[in-house]
Amino acid sequence: MSIFKRPKISRELPGQLYFVFISLMGCLTFLLVHRGEFLYYSPSQWVWVYAMLGAALILNYFTFQLPPEGNLQSMDSSVYLACIFIYGAPFALSVILFNTLAIALYDRKIPFWKHFVNFSIYTLMIVGSSLVFNAAGGQTGPILNNHFGAYLGALLVYFIINVFLLGFYYYLLYRGSLYDILKSFIKDTLLVYLSTLILSMVLSVLIVHNGVFGLTLFIGLSIMLSYSFKQLFSMYNEVQEKAIKDQRTGLYNHSYFENLLEDEIKKAKANDTPLSLAMIDIDDFKKYNDQFGHLKGDMLLGFLGNYLKVESEVAEVVASRFGGEEFTILMPGYDENKARSFINRLRKKLNDTYFEGVEIFPSGCLSYSAGIATYRIDIHDKSQLVELADQALYYAKKQGKNNVHVYGSGANKESEIDFADDVRDIEQQLKLFLYKDVDTFKHSKRVFRYAMDMSEVLGLDSVERRNFVLGALIHDIGKLEIPWGILNKRDKLTAGEWETVKRHVSWGKRIAETNEKFKELVPYIELHHERYDGGGYPHGFKGIQIPKLCRMLTIIDSFDAMTTERPYQKTKTFEEGIEELHRCSGTQFDPELVELFVHYLRLKAETQQQPAAGLETS
Ligand code: GH3
Ligand code: MG
Ligand code: MG
Repeated sequence: MSIFKRPKISRELPGQLYFVFISLMGCLTFLLVHRGEFLYYSPSQWVWVYAMLGAALILNYFTFQLPPEGNLQSMDSSVYLACIFIYGAPFALSVILFNTLAIALYDRKIPFWKHFVNFSIYTLMIVGSSLVFNAAGGQTGPILNNHFGAYLGALLVYFIINVFLLGFYYYLLYRGSLYDILKSFIKDTLLVYLSTLILSMVLSVLIVHNGVFGLTLFIGLSIMLSYSFKQLFSMYNEVQEKAIKDQRTGLYNHSYFENLLEDEIKKAKANDTPLSLAMIDIDDFKKYNDQFGHLKGDMLLGFLGNYLKVESEVAEVVASRFGGEEFTILMPGYDENKARSFINRLRKKLNDTYFEGVEIFPSGCLSYSAGIATYRIDIHDKSQLVELADQALYYAKKQGKNNVHVYGSGANKESEIDFADDVRDIEQQLKLFLYKDVDTFKHSKRVFRYAMDMSEVLGLDSVERRNFVLGALIHDIGKLEIPWGILNKRDKLTAGEWETVKRHVSWGKRIAETNEKFKELVPYIELHHERYDGGGYPHGFKGIQIPKLCRMLTIIDSFDAMTTERPYQKTKTFEEGIEELHRCSGTQFDPELVELFVHYLRLKAETQQQPAAGLETS
């Protein structure tokens, strides 16, 4: 593969120095191995140089386009390998030299130094490959069945030099992991190189037995295959396009949006970058349909789809049709403010855009309402972000339509959350523990107080704080379903009883799901027994698969459980509790959050004498 087939050749210094080094190596190697061999060529040898040069140029032009990315793979390497096998390395070098000159003359847009680097890389590949071919007992001339090892060795070295030289260049440019870069290069090109080996051997056989006629057959076949591959690739593109696009609007469809959202949430979580989602709903669209009929309504949808597509492409965001007359715009890298001003600008521009019949709309123009939600650390599932954007959209509609609302912003938050009311609601439910398991009641309230403190330490915003502290308060609600005898058992639990205890996370989830207000607390209930190392339950999630605030809750919950009296375990002192947190840091608990929590505990203990949230030590 040549450097021209790879995107983005940078002008940065390390890359340039590397290229200077490669070029020097390539030139020296060329001079050492080639030694001006063509000065002594006979006319018939010149004929073959030109023939092979022609073949290489044709194969360079008729590339093979492979799905899914449409990488253009050139099979010209089969010509150089065939040259090595039949005539030896100096001959192959003559061909690559003339090939480079011909391409440089033909394609003058590419700077000359790039041709030079490309020539050097090919030189090193040809010479390395030829050395191994000779060392493995290969002989130039007809293809010999019993020398297959030498052919394979030559190909492997040719391939390895190519992957290393280009891979190392990308490593210099983008750093990251050299291993990952090489792996991706190998994945991209292994099949192509294996085909190249077979092709080069076929070409050698044809040339040795049928001369120029054999070479012509080979080129004819390659051109036809290249053409078929192009057809195949464009068919693949068409099918691919249909699978992810909405026909009516030309935007991405719902399932593409869902996949993309999942990927972008993962990226935002891993890189700590902002991500915003806008949910857009056309105002009073039913009126337009009723007045002009569905067909005209469809045309308006198509018009709007095109408008969103054009605008979002410019802004490097992704617009999709969510369904009906609802659209989403996913904005990676956009924080709340940037997202709001973009969606608002789009809305105003749409207000000023004419489409036939817009006079019938109450505002006299085309308009939409939009709700925006921005990714937060307590969001672990794509449906949560959609849900928040949807709530914000609902709020925007209630404000009189034709406006944009960001979830959690402004004086009147959409779910402005009467915190105290919610606490009272949950406490009401927790009171059932007073007769069943008073320890769980007290524990839940202590964990709630720790969570209040920790939300300060973590600097959570109001929505995150609300969910975190309510989640802490409600996290053990599922224990209401555990039979009294197991919940209060003083002896060691049997394996079966443990299984029952473990099920409280799923029971709790179901209890919370019955109340619309508490749906967002589900992760805290369901995931507070997951472990950082993946050994927890119910899912065995690992590391950042567990939302950060759930990892925090696990630490608080465990620390409180250790340091207060429980029917089934010995109570630890404050110091023993901290020691235990450290002992399990990195396995059961997130190490960074353990440090934060321990720091907070110590600070509290110092300032208040009374440890933390009021530890009850027996
Ligand atoms: P609101 O401002 O509250 O959003 O009012 P609305 O009239 O837009 O009401 P709503 O969003 O509830 O209704 C959406 C309407 O969009 C219902 C349906 O007739 C229309 N619709 C949904 N999908 C299509 C479609 O593919 N083509 C056409 N022509 N109409 C559609
Ligand atoms: Mg609607
Ligand atoms: Mg609507």
